[in-house]
Amino acid sequence: MAEHDLLIVGAGPVGMTLALALKDSGLRMQLVDARPRGAARHDPRVLALSHGSRLTLERLGIWQHLPATPIETIHISQQGGLGRSLLKAADYGLPAMGYVVAAGQLAAALDDALAAAGIPIQGSTTVTGLATGADSVSLSLADGTLEARLVACAEGSIQGEGAPELVERDYAQHAVISVATPVEGHAHRAWERFTPQGPLAVLPCGSDCAIVHTASPADADALMDLDDEAYRARLQAHFGERLHFASVGPRARYPLLLRYRPDPTGPRTVWLGNAAQTLHPVAGQGYNLALRDVWTCAQVLLRSGGDPGDPATLARYAAERRLDRQGTIRFTDGLVRLFSNAIAPLAHARGAGLFALDLLPPARHFVAKRMMFGARAWP
Ligand SMILES: Cc1cc2nc3c(=O)[nH]c(=O)nc-3n(C[C@H](O)[C@H](O)[C@H](O)COP(=O)(O)OP(=O)(O)OC[C@H]3O[C@@H](n4cnc5c(N)ncnc54)[C@H](O)[C@@H]3O)c2cc1C
Repeated sequence: MAEHDLLIVGAGPVGMTLALALKDSGLRMQLVDARPRGAARHDPRVLALSHGSRLTLERLGIWQHLPATPIETIHISQQGGLGRSLLKAADYGLPAMGYVVAAGQLAAALDDALAAAGIPIQGSTTVTGLATGADSVSLSLADGTLEARLVACAEGSIQGEGAPELVERDYAQHAVISVATPVEGHAHRAWERFTPQGPLAVLPCGSDCAIVHTASPADADALMDLDDEAYRARLQAHFGERLHFASVGPRARYPLLLRYRPDPTGPRTVWLGNAAQTLHPVAGQGYNLALRDVWTCAQVLLRSGGDPGDPATLARYAAERRLDRQGTIRFTDGLVRLFSNAIAPLAHARGAGLFALDLLPPARHFVAKRMMFGARAWP
Protein backbone atom coordinates (compact mmCIF):
# COMPACT_ATOMS: atom_id res chain seq x y z
CA MET A 1 0.00 0.00 0.00
CA ALA A 2 1.34 3.46 -0.97
CA GLU A 3 2.66 5.49 1.96
CA HIS A 4 0.72 8.59 0.79
CA ASP A 5 -2.78 9.14 -0.56
CA LEU A 6 -1.71 12.35 -2.31
CA LEU A 7 1.67 13.76 -3.26
CA ILE A 8 1.73 17.31 -4.57
CA VAL A 9 4.71 18.16 -6.80
CA GLY A 10 5.38 21.90 -6.50
CA ALA A 11 4.84 24.09 -3.43
CA GLY A 12 4.05 27.23 -5.42
CA PRO A 13 0.76 29.06 -4.83
CA VAL A 14 -1.26 26.38 -6.63
CA GLY A 15 0.19 23.29 -4.94
CA MET A 16 -0.07 24.93 -1.52
CA THR A 17 -3.68 25.99 -2.14
CA LEU A 18 -4.67 22.41 -3.01
CA ALA A 19 -3.07 21.08 0.18
CA LEU A 20 -4.88 23.69 2.24
CA ALA A 21 -8.24 22.96 0.60
CA LEU A 22 -7.77 19.31 1.64
CA LYS A 23 -6.42 19.90 5.13
CA ASP A 24 -9.45 18.32 6.85
CA SER A 25 -9.85 15.49 4.32
CA GLY A 26 -7.97 12.86 6.30
CA LEU A 27 -5.83 12.15 3.21
CA ARG A 28 -2.19 11.36 4.00
CA MET A 29 -0.50 14.05 1.91
CA GLN A 30 2.82 15.76 1.39
CA LEU A 31 4.24 18.46 -0.89
CA VAL A 32 7.67 18.27 -2.52
CA ASP A 33 9.43 21.21 -4.12
CA ALA A 34 12.72 21.56 -5.96
CA ARG A 35 13.47 24.83 -4.17
CA PRO A 36 14.16 25.25 -0.45
CA ARG A 37 10.98 25.70 1.61
CA GLY A 38 9.76 29.29 1.55
CA ALA A 39 11.33 30.23 -1.82
CA ALA A 40 7.90 31.19 -3.21
CA ARG A 41 7.77 33.99 -0.62
CA HIS A 42 10.21 35.88 -2.88
CA ASP A 43 8.04 35.68 -6.05
CA PRO A 44 8.19 39.25 -7.48
CA ARG A 45 4.92 38.93 -9.43
CA VAL A 46 1.82 40.85 -8.51
CA LEU A 47 -1.53 39.14 -9.07
CA ALA A 48 -4.91 40.66 -9.90
CA LEU A 49 -7.49 38.44 -8.20
CA SER A 50 -11.17 38.35 -9.05
CA HIS A 51 -13.99 38.84 -6.58
CA GLY A 52 -14.63 35.09 -6.93
CA SER A 53 -11.03 34.33 -5.90
CA ARG A 54 -11.44 36.50 -2.84
CA LEU A 55 -14.46 34.43 -1.76
CA THR A 56 -12.48 31.19 -2.18
CA LEU A 57 -9.47 32.52 -0.27
CA GLU A 58 -11.83 33.68 2.50
CA ARG A 59 -13.18 30.13 2.81
CA LEU A 60 -9.61 28.85 3.03
CA GLY A 61 -8.84 31.33 5.83
CA ILE A 62 -6.11 33.03 3.77
CA TRP A 63 -7.71 36.28 2.69
CA GLN A 64 -7.70 37.69 6.22
CA HIS A 65 -3.86 37.53 6.23
CA LEU A 66 -3.35 39.06 2.79
CA PRO A 67 -2.68 42.76 2.17
CA ALA A 68 -4.90 43.45 -0.86
CA THR A 69 -5.58 46.61 -2.86
CA PRO A 70 -9.11 46.89 -4.30
CA ILE A 71 -9.59 47.73 -8.00
CA GLU A 72 -12.65 49.98 -8.23
CA THR A 73 -12.48 50.77 -11.95
CA ILE A 74 -10.73 49.24 -14.97
CA HIS A 75 -9.83 51.56 -17.84
CA ILE A 76 -9.28 49.76 -21.16
CA SER A 77 -7.76 51.62 -24.11
CA GLN A 78 -5.51 51.17 -27.11
CA GLN A 79 -2.45 53.15 -28.09
CA GLY A 80 -3.17 55.29 -31.15
CA GLY A 81 -6.88 54.41 -31.14
CA LEU A 82 -9.99 56.30 -30.16
CA GLY A 83 -11.97 53.67 -28.32
CA ARG A 84 -11.84 53.24 -24.60
CA SER A 85 -14.01 51.51 -22.03
CA LEU A 86 -14.49 51.95 -18.32
CA LEU A 87 -15.66 49.09 -16.09
CA LYS A 88 -16.90 50.19 -12.66
CA ALA A 89 -17.45 48.01 -9.58
CA ALA A 90 -20.27 50.29 -8.47
CA ASP A 91 -22.28 49.20 -11.55
CA TYR A 92 -22.27 45.64 -10.17
CA GLY A 93 -23.04 46.44 -6.55
CA LEU A 94 -19.64 45.13 -5.47
CA PRO A 95 -16.94 46.92 -3.49
CA ALA A 96 -14.31 46.04 -6.12
CA MET A 97 -13.86 44.60 -9.63
CA GLY A 98 -10.95 42.63 -8.17
CA TYR A 99 -7.96 42.93 -5.87
CA VAL A 100 -4.21 43.18 -6.30
CA VAL A 101 -1.98 41.07 -4.09
CA ALA A 102 1.75 40.34 -4.09
CA ALA A 103 2.37 36.72 -5.16
CA GLY A 104 5.10 36.51 -2.47
CA GLN A 105 2.66 37.54 0.27
CA LEU A 106 0.09 35.04 -0.99
CA ALA A 107 2.76 32.31 -0.85
CA ALA A 108 3.75 33.38 2.68
CA ALA A 109 0.14 33.23 3.92
CA LEU A 110 -0.32 29.77 2.37
CA ASP A 111 2.99 28.47 3.75
CA ASP A 112 2.09 29.71 7.26
CA ALA A 113 -1.35 28.09 7.05
CA LEU A 114 0.17 24.74 5.97
CA ALA A 115 2.68 24.88 8.82
CA ALA A 116 -0.17 25.55 11.26
CA ALA A 117 -2.14 22.62 9.80
CA GLY A 118 0.90 20.31 10.11
CA ILE A 119 1.01 19.46 6.40
CA PRO A 120 4.61 18.58 5.46
CA ILE A 121 6.51 20.31 2.65
CA GLN A 122 9.76 18.61 1.63
CA GLY A 123 11.95 21.34 0.11
CA SER A 124 15.09 21.02 -2.04
CA THR A 125 13.66 17.84 -3.60
CA THR A 126 13.38 17.60 -7.38
CA VAL A 127 11.02 15.06 -8.89
CA THR A 128 12.70 13.62 -11.97
CA GLY A 129 10.09 11.11 -13.14
CA LEU A 130 6.72 9.48 -12.55
CA ALA A 131 5.89 5.79 -13.03
CA THR A 132 2.26 4.75 -12.79
CA GLY A 133 1.27 1.31 -11.56
CA ALA A 134 -2.17 -0.24 -11.03
CA ASP A 135 -2.60 0.99 -7.45
CA SER A 136 -0.06 3.80 -7.08
CA VAL A 137 2.31 6.29 -8.68
CA SER A 138 6.01 6.25 -7.95
CA LEU A 139 7.91 9.57 -7.96
CA SER A 140 11.64 9.40 -8.68
CA LEU A 141 13.85 11.68 -6.58
CA ALA A 142 17.64 12.11 -6.60
CA ASP A 143 17.94 9.85 -3.54
CA GLY A 144 15.00 7.46 -3.75
CA THR A 145 11.29 7.27 -4.54
CA LEU A 146 7.96 8.28 -3.01
CA GLU A 147 4.68 6.40 -3.57
CA ALA A 148 1.14 7.75 -3.60
CA ARG A 149 -2.31 6.76 -4.81
CA LEU A 150 -2.65 10.14 -6.57
CA VAL A 151 -0.08 12.72 -7.68
CA ALA A 152 -1.05 16.34 -8.27
CA CYS A 153 1.48 17.99 -10.59
CA ALA A 154 1.70 21.70 -9.78
CA GLU A 155 5.30 22.20 -10.88
CA GLY A 156 4.58 25.46 -12.69
CA SER A 157 5.56 24.45 -16.21
CA ILE A 158 4.44 21.91 -18.74
CA GLN A 159 7.09 19.34 -19.52
CA GLY A 160 7.37 17.33 -22.71
CA GLU A 161 7.29 20.15 -25.26
CA GLY A 162 6.09 18.94 -28.63
CA ALA A 163 4.09 16.03 -27.17
CA PRO A 164 0.93 15.50 -29.23
CA GLU A 165 -1.52 16.17 -26.43
CA LEU A 166 -0.16 19.66 -25.73
CA VAL A 167 -1.49 22.80 -27.39
CA GLU A 168 1.16 25.51 -27.69
CA ARG A 169 1.40 29.04 -29.02
CA ASP A 170 4.49 31.19 -28.60
CA TYR A 171 3.37 34.84 -28.52
CA ALA A 172 6.93 36.07 -29.09
CA GLN A 173 6.32 38.46 -26.21
CA HIS A 174 8.00 38.89 -22.84
CA ALA A 175 6.55 40.61 -19.76
CA VAL A 176 8.83 43.08 -17.99
CA ILE A 177 7.39 43.61 -14.52
CA SER A 178 8.18 46.29 -11.94
CA VAL A 179 6.61 48.48 -9.27
CA ALA A 180 6.28 52.22 -10.03
CA THR A 181 5.49 55.06 -7.66
CA PRO A 182 2.91 57.41 -9.19
CA VAL A 183 3.06 61.19 -8.78
CA GLU A 184 -0.69 61.47 -8.17
CA GLY A 185 -2.84 58.82 -6.45
CA HIS A 186 -4.01 55.87 -8.55
CA ALA A 187 -7.58 56.22 -7.19
CA HIS A 188 -7.87 52.38 -7.15
CA ARG A 189 -8.01 52.30 -10.93
CA ALA A 190 -6.38 49.62 -13.11
CA TRP A 191 -5.36 50.47 -16.69
CA GLU A 192 -5.15 47.90 -19.46
CA ARG A 193 -3.62 49.53 -22.53
CA PHE A 194 -3.30 47.58 -25.76
CA THR A 195 -0.32 48.45 -27.94
CA PRO A 196 1.05 46.83 -31.10
CA GLN A 197 3.95 45.46 -28.99
CA GLY A 198 1.48 43.81 -26.58
CA PRO A 199 -0.61 44.89 -23.60
CA LEU A 200 0.57 47.20 -20.82
CA ALA A 201 -1.14 46.76 -17.44
CA VAL A 202 -0.89 49.26 -14.60
CA LEU A 203 -2.44 47.93 -11.39
CA PRO A 204 -2.99 49.73 -8.07
CA CYS A 205 -0.81 48.04 -5.44
CA GLY A 206 -0.75 49.72 -2.03
CA SER A 207 0.06 53.33 -2.83
CA ASP A 208 2.21 52.20 -5.79
CA CYS A 209 1.39 50.71 -9.18
CA ALA A 210 2.41 47.24 -10.41
CA ILE A 211 3.50 47.33 -14.05
CA VAL A 212 3.25 44.46 -16.54
CA HIS A 213 4.92 45.78 -19.69
CA THR A 214 4.77 43.44 -22.68
CA ALA A 215 7.35 43.68 -25.46
CA SER A 216 9.05 41.55 -28.10
CA PRO A 217 11.96 39.50 -26.71
CA ALA A 218 14.50 41.90 -28.32
CA ASP A 219 12.71 44.98 -26.95
CA ALA A 220 12.48 43.31 -23.55
CA ASP A 221 16.29 42.88 -23.62
CA ALA A 222 16.62 46.60 -24.28
CA LEU A 223 14.11 47.50 -21.53
CA MET A 224 15.96 45.35 -19.01
CA ASP A 225 19.26 47.08 -19.91
CA LEU A 226 17.99 50.63 -19.24
CA ASP A 227 18.81 52.33 -15.96
CA ASP A 228 15.81 53.09 -13.71
CA GLU A 229 15.31 56.68 -14.83
CA ALA A 230 15.60 55.84 -18.54
CA TYR A 231 13.11 53.00 -18.07
CA ARG A 232 10.72 55.30 -16.18
CA ALA A 233 10.77 57.74 -19.12
CA ARG A 234 10.22 54.89 -21.63
CA LEU A 235 7.32 53.53 -19.58
CA GLN A 236 5.74 56.99 -19.32
CA ALA A 237 5.95 57.53 -23.08
CA HIS A 238 4.44 54.09 -23.70
CA PHE A 239 1.60 54.56 -21.22
CA GLY A 240 0.63 58.15 -22.02
CA GLU A 241 -0.44 60.94 -19.71
CA ARG A 242 -3.33 59.44 -17.73
CA LEU A 243 -1.02 58.88 -14.75
CA HIS A 244 2.54 60.04 -14.11
CA PHE A 245 5.32 57.92 -12.65
CA ALA A 246 7.86 59.46 -10.25
CA SER A 247 10.14 56.40 -10.05
CA VAL A 248 10.33 52.73 -10.96
CA GLY A 249 11.87 49.87 -8.93
CA PRO A 250 13.76 46.73 -10.03
CA ARG A 251 12.53 44.82 -13.10
CA ALA A 252 12.05 41.08 -13.76
CA ARG A 253 11.01 39.39 -17.00
CA TYR A 254 8.91 36.39 -18.05
CA PRO A 255 8.54 34.85 -21.53
CA LEU A 256 4.86 34.63 -22.46
CA LEU A 257 3.18 31.74 -24.17
CA LEU A 258 0.04 29.69 -24.23
CA ARG A 259 0.57 26.03 -23.45
CA TYR A 260 -2.11 23.73 -22.12
CA ARG A 261 -3.20 20.15 -21.72
CA PRO A 262 -6.69 19.66 -23.18
CA ASP A 263 -7.14 16.87 -20.61
CA PRO A 264 -5.67 17.86 -17.23
CA THR A 265 -5.79 14.26 -15.94
CA GLY A 266 -3.93 11.02 -16.61
CA PRO A 267 -3.57 7.68 -14.80
CA ARG A 268 -3.47 8.53 -11.08
CA THR A 269 -2.33 12.05 -12.06
CA VAL A 270 -3.93 15.48 -12.14
CA TRP A 271 -2.20 18.61 -13.49
CA LEU A 272 -3.04 21.96 -11.90
CA GLY A 273 -2.06 25.63 -12.26
CA ASN A 274 0.64 26.50 -14.77
CA ALA A 275 1.35 22.77 -15.18
CA ALA A 276 -2.16 22.36 -16.65
CA GLN A 277 -2.37 25.66 -18.52
CA THR A 278 0.12 28.49 -18.85
CA LEU A 279 -1.67 31.64 -20.01
CA HIS A 280 -0.65 35.11 -21.15
CA PRO A 281 -1.18 37.45 -18.18
CA VAL A 282 -3.19 39.98 -20.27
CA ALA A 283 -6.44 39.51 -18.38
CA GLY A 284 -4.89 38.28 -15.11
CA GLN A 285 -6.61 34.88 -15.36
CA GLY A 286 -3.81 32.37 -14.51
CA TYR A 287 -4.06 31.97 -10.75
CA ASN A 288 -7.77 32.86 -10.77
CA LEU A 289 -8.48 29.92 -13.10
CA ALA A 290 -6.09 27.68 -11.14
CA LEU A 291 -7.94 28.50 -7.93
CA ARG A 292 -11.26 27.42 -9.47
CA ASP A 293 -9.57 24.21 -10.68
CA VAL A 294 -8.06 23.54 -7.26
CA TRP A 295 -11.33 24.19 -5.43
CA THR A 296 -13.25 21.80 -7.68
CA CYS A 297 -10.49 19.18 -7.49
CA ALA A 298 -10.62 19.31 -3.68
CA GLN A 299 -14.44 19.09 -3.63
CA VAL A 300 -14.44 16.10 -6.02
CA LEU A 301 -11.84 14.29 -3.89
CA LEU A 302 -13.76 15.06 -0.69
CA ARG A 303 -17.03 13.79 -2.22
CA SER A 304 -15.47 10.60 -3.60
CA GLY A 305 -14.22 9.49 -0.20
CA GLY A 306 -12.48 6.38 -1.60
CA ASP A 307 -9.33 5.90 -3.69
CA PRO A 308 -8.30 9.45 -4.73
CA GLY A 309 -6.63 8.12 -7.90
CA ASP A 310 -9.75 6.26 -9.08
CA PRO A 311 -10.20 6.95 -12.85
CA ALA A 312 -13.90 7.79 -12.36
CA THR A 313 -13.02 10.46 -9.78
CA LEU A 314 -10.44 12.05 -12.09
CA ALA A 315 -12.86 11.90 -15.04
CA ARG A 316 -15.47 13.71 -12.92
CA TYR A 317 -12.96 16.44 -12.13
CA ALA A 318 -11.99 16.87 -15.80
CA ALA A 319 -15.65 17.03 -16.86
CA GLU A 320 -16.59 19.60 -14.22
CA ARG A 321 -13.75 21.89 -15.28
CA ARG A 322 -13.96 21.54 -19.09
CA LEU A 323 -16.18 24.52 -19.88
CA ASP A 324 -14.45 27.06 -17.64
CA ARG A 325 -10.95 25.98 -18.70
CA GLN A 326 -11.77 26.15 -22.41
CA GLY A 327 -13.62 29.47 -22.04
CA THR A 328 -10.86 31.16 -20.05
CA ILE A 329 -8.10 29.89 -22.37
CA ARG A 330 -10.02 31.15 -25.44
CA PHE A 331 -10.88 34.50 -23.84
CA THR A 332 -7.23 35.16 -22.92
CA ASP A 333 -5.76 33.92 -26.20
CA GLY A 334 -8.35 35.88 -28.21
CA LEU A 335 -7.51 39.13 -26.42
CA VAL A 336 -3.77 38.74 -27.08
CA ARG A 337 -4.20 37.90 -30.75
CA LEU A 338 -6.82 40.54 -31.49
CA PHE A 339 -4.97 43.38 -29.81
CA SER A 340 -1.27 42.64 -30.38
CA ASN A 341 -0.69 43.96 -33.88
CA ALA A 342 -0.64 47.22 -35.80
CA ILE A 343 -2.70 46.28 -38.89
CA ALA A 344 -4.73 49.44 -39.66
CA PRO A 345 -8.19 47.91 -40.35
CA LEU A 346 -7.85 45.82 -37.22
CA ALA A 347 -6.84 48.85 -35.19
CA HIS A 348 -9.96 50.60 -36.43
CA ALA A 349 -12.11 47.57 -35.61
CA ARG A 350 -10.54 47.40 -32.16
CA GLY A 351 -11.31 51.08 -31.55
CA ALA A 352 -14.88 50.43 -32.63
CA GLY A 353 -14.96 47.35 -30.41
CA LEU A 354 -13.89 49.25 -27.32
CA PHE A 355 -16.32 52.02 -28.17
CA ALA A 356 -19.09 49.41 -28.52
CA LEU A 357 -18.02 47.87 -25.22
CA ASP A 358 -18.63 51.21 -23.62
CA LEU A 359 -22.00 51.73 -25.31
CA LEU A 360 -23.37 48.19 -25.20
CA PRO A 361 -24.12 47.14 -21.62
CA PRO A 362 -24.39 43.36 -22.40
CA ALA A 363 -20.89 43.26 -23.93
CA ARG A 364 -19.45 45.32 -21.09
CA HIS A 365 -21.21 43.14 -18.50
CA PHE A 366 -19.78 40.00 -20.13
CA VAL A 367 -16.21 41.27 -19.91
CA ALA A 368 -16.75 42.67 -16.41
CA LYS A 369 -18.25 39.43 -15.10
CA ARG A 370 -15.44 37.39 -16.59
CA MET A 371 -12.95 39.63 -14.78
CA MET A 372 -14.91 39.34 -11.53
CA PHE A 373 -16.03 35.71 -11.53
CA GLY A 374 -14.48 33.75 -14.42
CA ALA A 375 -16.81 30.97 -15.58
CA ARG A 376 -19.88 32.60 -14.15
CA ALA A 377 -19.65 35.16 -16.93
CA TRP A 378 -21.37 32.56 -19.10
CA PRO A 379 -25.15 32.92 -19.18
C1 LIG B 1 4.03 38.54 -15.56
C2 LIG B 1 2.93 37.69 -15.01
C3 LIG B 1 1.81 38.28 -14.43
C4 LIG B 1 0.76 37.50 -13.96
N1 LIG B 1 -0.35 38.13 -13.45
C5 LIG B 1 -1.39 37.39 -13.01
C6 LIG B 1 -2.56 38.03 -12.49
O1 LIG B 1 -2.67 39.25 -12.46
N2 LIG B 1 -3.58 37.24 -12.04
C7 LIG B 1 -3.51 35.87 -12.07
O2 LIG B 1 -4.47 35.21 -11.66
N3 LIG B 1 -2.42 35.24 -12.57
C8 LIG B 1 -1.36 35.97 -13.04
N4 LIG B 1 -0.24 35.34 -13.51
C9 LIG B 1 -0.19 33.87 -13.49
C10 LIG B 1 0.27 33.32 -12.13
O3 LIG B 1 1.50 33.90 -11.78
C11 LIG B 1 0.39 31.81 -12.23
O4 LIG B 1 -0.86 31.28 -12.61
C12 LIG B 1 0.77 31.16 -10.90
O5 LIG B 1 1.91 31.77 -10.35
C13 LIG B 1 1.07 29.70 -11.15
O6 LIG B 1 1.45 29.10 -9.93
P1 LIG B 1 1.94 27.60 -9.88
O7 LIG B 1 1.93 27.22 -8.44
O8 LIG B 1 1.18 26.78 -10.87
O9 LIG B 1 3.45 27.65 -10.44
P2 LIG B 1 4.80 28.22 -9.80
O10 LIG B 1 4.55 29.46 -9.03
O11 LIG B 1 5.77 28.27 -10.92
O12 LIG B 1 5.26 27.09 -8.76
C14 LIG B 1 5.77 25.84 -9.18
C15 LIG B 1 6.62 25.22 -8.08
O13 LIG B 1 7.01 23.92 -8.50
C16 LIG B 1 8.38 23.70 -8.18
N5 LIG B 1 8.93 22.70 -9.11
C17 LIG B 1 9.16 22.85 -10.44
N6 LIG B 1 9.65 21.72 -10.98
C18 LIG B 1 9.72 20.82 -9.96
C19 LIG B 1 10.14 19.46 -9.89
N7 LIG B 1 10.57 18.79 -10.97
N8 LIG B 1 10.12 18.83 -8.69
C20 LIG B 1 9.67 19.49 -7.58
N9 LIG B 1 9.24 20.78 -7.61
C21 LIG B 1 9.26 21.44 -8.78
C22 LIG B 1 9.01 25.08 -8.31
O14 LIG B 1 10.19 25.17 -7.52
C23 LIG B 1 7.89 26.01 -7.80
O15 LIG B 1 8.00 26.27 -6.42
C24 LIG B 1 0.83 36.09 -14.02
C25 LIG B 1 1.96 35.48 -14.57
C26 LIG B 1 3.00 36.27 -15.08
C27 LIG B 1 4.19 35.59 -15.70
